[in-house]
Amino acid sequence: MWNPWHGCHRVSEGCRNCYVYRIDGTHGRESGEVSLNSDFLLPLRESREGWKMKSGERVYTCFSSDFLIAEADEWRRDVWQMMRVRQDLHFVFFTKRIERLKAVLPPDWGEGYENVTVGCTCENQARADERLPIFLSLPIMHRLIICEPLLGRIDLRPYLDRGKIEEVSAGGESGEGARECDFAWVMELRDACAEAGVRFSYHQTGALLRRDGKLYRIPRCQQKEQAKRARIDVL
Ligand code: SF4
Repeated sequence: MWNPWHGCHRVSEGCRNCYVYRIDGTHGRESGEVSLNSDFLLPLRESREGWKMKSGERVYTCFSSDFLIAEADEWRRDVWQMMRVRQDLHFVFFTKRIERLKAVLPPDWGEGYENVTVGCTCENQARADERLPIFLSLPIMHRLIICEPLLGRIDLRPYLDRGKIEEVSAGGESGEGARECDFAWVMELRDACAEAGVRFSYHQTGALLRRDGKLYRIPRCQQKEQAKRARIDVL
């Protein structure tokens, strides 16, 4: 995990119970102020044994903000440069602001950097229909779709048949005020992926799972395990 900056603004329904706000709230920190983190240069840090981030690692980037937030436009230029220098790492970022990507790509991006995966987050059908056509039209080497927190049924089929999506992951919402996630919505995504030959991962159940009409409260410590136990991933 590498968080070059911190802080964000809510942009859509999926942001309502954002964990950045939740965690900052417990420390009295203002989440709406976007600021650089002290480990901004982490990929370039070295110790006596060499790079601190070891070659071959997958680096989950910017999980306490949105990688494409406007306040970070200046800083992101240095991040692209670090991604170029550390081609031995694989960087993964998720965004709810995919419409900003084209304008902030580096000049040598071409068809995408081989060592960068972009995840587009869609929590319901409206956001999928708004974001995925843009996502699919952009030059990106590795694409994921993240349906988490899943807030309604989504028909992803129109977006999966072009061979451009490597994986879809889905999960419910956690924390205080979590909204329910219906297992039937998860299965619909799963079946669409199976049909299209796209990998699917059921990441976690969320705190309120509806299954066959019955509502279950799942403690946080069991949410990942219970999703795994459903055995519905498409590999
Ligand atoms: S975009 Fe992501 S980090 Fe930003 S407020 Fe929404 S959920 Fe939180």
